Amino acid sequence: MRSLRIQVSGIVQGVGFRPFVYRIANDYGISGSVSNNTQGVDILASGDGDSLFLFLKALKDEAPAAALVERVNVASAGEIATGPFEIVASDAEGSKQVLISPDLATCDDCVRELFDASDRRHRYPFINCTNCGPRFTIIRDTPYDRPLTSMSPFEMCAECAAEYADPSDRRFHAQPNACPVCGPRAWLVDRTGARMEGEAAGEAARLLSEGGIVAIKGLGGFHLACDATDDEAVACLRERKRRYGKPLAVMVSDVNEARAICRVSDEEERLLASPRRPIVLLKELEGSPLSREVAGGLDRQGVFLPYTPLHHLVLAGAGRPLVMTSGNISNEPIAIDNDEAMNRLGDIADHFLLHDRDILVRYDDSVSRVFRTAEYPVRRARGYAPYPIRITPPAEVQVLALGAELKNTFCVLRGEQAFMGQHIGDMESEGELEHFEEALAAVLRLFSLEPEVVAHDLHPDYLTTQMAPEFGLPMVGVQHHHAHIVSCLADNAASGEVIGVAWDGTGYGTDGTVWGGEFLVCDETSFRRAAHLYRYPMPGADACIYRLYRMVYGVMSELFEDEETAMERLRARFDIDDTEAASLVFQVKNKVNTPITSSAGRMFDVAAALAGLRGEASYDGQAACELEAVARDTREYYNFILDRSAEPWVVDTRPVFREMLIDIDSGKAPAEVAGKFHATMALAIIATCEAIADATGLGRVALSGGVFQNEMLATWAVDGLTSSGLAVMVHGRVPCNDGGISLGQAVVAARLS
Ligand code: ZN
Ligand code: ZN
Ligand code: FE
Repeated sequence: MRSLRIQVSGIVQGVGFRPFVYRIANDYGISGSVSNNTQGVDILASGDGDSLFLFLKALKDEAPAAALVERVNVASAGEIATGPFEIVASDAEGSKQVLISPDLATCDDCVRELFDASDRRHRYPFINCTNCGPRFTIIRDTPYDRPLTSMSPFEMCAECAAEYADPSDRRFHAQPNACPVCGPRAWLVDRTGARMEGEAAGEAARLLSEGGIVAIKGLGGFHLACDATDDEAVACLRERKRRYGKPLAVMVSDVNEARAICRVSDEEERLLASPRRPIVLLKELEGSPLSREVAGGLDRQGVFLPYTPLHHLVLAGAGRPLVMTSGNISNEPIAIDNDEAMNRLGDIADHFLLHDRDILVRYDDSVSRVFRTAEYPVRRARGYAPYPIRITPPAEVQVLALGAELKNTFCVLRGEQAFMGQHIGDMESEGELEHFEEALAAVLRLFSLEPEVVAHDLHPDYLTTQMAPEFGLPMVGVQHHHAHIVSCLADNAASGEVIGVAWDGTGYGTDGTVWGGEFLVCDETSFRRAAHLYRYPMPGADACIYRLYRMVYGVMSELFEDEETAMERLRARFDIDDTEAASLVFQVKNKVNTPITSSAGRMFDVAAALAGLRGEASYDGQAACELEAVARDTREYYNFILDRSAEPWVVDTRPVFREMLIDIDSGKAPAEVAGKFHATMALAIIATCEAIADATGLGRVALSGGVFQNEMLATWAVDGLTSSGLAVMVHGRVPCNDGGISLGQAVVAARLS
């Protein structure tokens, strides 16, 4: 007889790991015990040499699907256990290194039982098992055990308790295990709070199919739902939520229903059906049954599958795709509490589908897509965060990175683990600030993180920059585009010097101007601005993001010698009143509230506006997305000049817009102009990177920044760079947009500390 002490770390709690250990211990006649501790799972195993060998092998090879074993440490133990193998209570002491799985979509077994009339959980909205169900949204603290979750008020009935205690049961030690007798309940109320008759989920489905708007309490917050095929219902939801233009996510009952709406590749299907269940951006089919109001004019739909039992019941009952958009008004955080939802969403929803299992932490839906054959995340939240991203080499200090202003996320780096918090949103209001603080506090507590350094953006007006000194720690300011490129490096588990193409809407430059079309030569500790796009005045600064014609005037003012001609050419295209025209001329001439910008995002806005798509936008990036949506594949392009007369080099795009104006005036279709513009910008990337590679000898390029959400641009850039013999890195684990900034900030600060 020998005895081993085995410590398993990774995602090993809340995924049926202890029952699995129990089962294999019995299979091989092993005595001893298994328990959760703050490091993961701790096992004492006693048996003969052969049995122990087989037991260890099974431990590594046969772990449950939802588990992710990162490390198995084995040491010989002094004590010899005898008798049957046991699962013992958790040990809450020690530092908390355990990794909890993010929330998992309802598994196939549970869905089957949900719709099985003979099952005791038939149509029970909170069915779950060790392979599925809520995790981070219900955890108060670690270890992940029921008393430390929002399931603590529900005492298991005898039948549930028996399942929980039976090692052969799928619900053995499933912390949120529940049934209609003992568990949480759902109910339906109208907006006055009056209870509705009938089964809550079934009634909600009926109201939705009749055109109603229902607020549904989900996993990480409330959704607002309506019939996605009903123009009137969708228009009404947009109006009440004050969400104009931006696409709305659509939930469909299964992959087949998704195929009736969108083109779905094998990779996209895998992503749609994965237990993380992100919203997946898919190309819509012609003749799709969805209301035109849903996508807001774009050619892509954000589609996702049900991920809670309640969703399954509502979708099955409604029998049609449903809009499921986050339960908030414009930019506020998503509502999680019943009373909060009734208060804040009372003017939007007609009815509320509520339940009594508390959501402890807000998690928005994640948004993802497939670029070529790999995942290309857009927004990381439910199902993804805060499970750490591995980086190499490990960091020597713990860093808290506060992220950017828009699409904010934070990141806490410890060793090789980068804990990226969930998408917070745009840090512009009190509500978002609270959401940030609550999410950060939860991550610090759950993983016992103690940051020693704070990293922040250089923009003096960002709320996150202003917040940095409050931590009382040494601070490291990281330039926005440097952070983008280092984020891409870390995302690829790479390091060292690269050519970084950071193209986005806005970022604060070290010279105080607005950057956004940057070619950097950088590593994790420093960067050099090797080249940038031509800089145009941006009259009214951020006003240009919404009033696109203002940015067009900024470009015109550089194309034409005198302001009269520039304004004339502008007014020939856009309806601009005299006051606005005078203000534009005045601002540019006197440089009043008119920074200059090298932003690539603004160039896409200008191209879209000139192509006649729109003169004003209701959200940042709208025009650029539409430009991509109409763009036709082409071999034509506009001319640009790579001006190498001074450092940094300048990609002069004035010829691009001159030629584009000629095209448009000669009646070229927007689709052609859009295609040519995409090809031009891709060529600008390729030619500039080639020139930098020649000058520096560097052979790797990293592409980051929100502009690379543009699939056409990214595809052509990657193809061209690869053909030029350059190795190209794109994002795969964190977004290329500002949602990935915090990872880059954290790595830069760690390497500098
Ligand atoms: Zn399950
Ligand atoms: Zn029960
Ligand atoms: Fe950015």
